[in-house]
Amino acid sequence: MVSFSSEKVTPHITRIRDGSDVCEYLIVGNDRAALIDTGYGIGDLKGYVESLTDKPYEVFITHGHVDHAAGAAQFEKAYMNLADQALFNVHCEVEFRKEMLASHGDLQLEEADFLPKRKAPFTNIEDGMEVDLGGVTVTFLHIPGHTQGIMVPLIKEDRAVLFGDACGVGVLLLLPESSTVEEYCKSLKKLQTYEPYYDTVLRQHGTCTSTPHVLEDNIENCEKILAGTDDHVEDKMMGVTCYWAREIDPATGMRKDGREGNIRYSLDHVR
Ligand SMILES: [Zn+2]
Repeated sequence: MVSFSSEKVTPHITRIRDGSDVCEYLIVGNDRAALIDTGYGIGDLKGYVESLTDKPYEVFITHGHVDHAAGAAQFEKAYMNLADQALFNVHCEVEFRKEMLASHGDLQLEEADFLPKRKAPFTNIEDGMEVDLGGVTVTFLHIPGHTQGIMVPLIKEDRAVLFGDACGVGVLLLLPESSTVEEYCKSLKKLQTYEPYYDTVLRQHGTCTSTPHVLEDNIENCEKILAGTDDHVEDKMMGVTCYWAREIDPATGMRKDGREGNIRYSLDHVR
């Protein structure tokens, strides 16, 4: 059984949790709303969203990973950058979702909690696409790195940005769908040009927030990895040998030096 809960994080943005390790966001304007991400595809997210707002809304997926996109099955129309379509096709499979959920916490689920696989096509999100919700605008920025189609929503009126998996305390750059550190660094420098428009940084795992410094930390991390001067701490994830750019406290998974941004990369994802 999946039970949802929510909390308001800015005047127009509500965070939704479903008991798993990931969260979604609902942005409500004067006329319309936008649901950002849909989780693993468990429980009645649609019903929950409709209990939070009576405004018409559309669904936007930040990237094709299982924990963000699989719930899109519940919505007739949904937007996603189509560079992540092939990735989504693998990640939305029910068996894959069960496997991933089993390794991410101890949520007790029944067969009926799983939504079927989405068959309807997505509508593409282009870089710079603006969605006017009435008094609130969501601008989608294409920041390839973690995946090729990953988008970062910027909500200027609330001075908030949703970095999600695109930039955080343990960015994954070791997956087949990830960019090299060199390419990711260029994406982050593009994201940095939007810094004057936000003070609040939202994420979707762990504490689900960061300070804006997480971006400059990760630019510095990319530069250090490329120069071969990062801490290069070996680890293993999903059977892949990877390296943390900065040393972490194993108890918390956070940087030992007290700063925020960190990257996990594999040697074939450097240049
Ligand atoms: Zn992801």
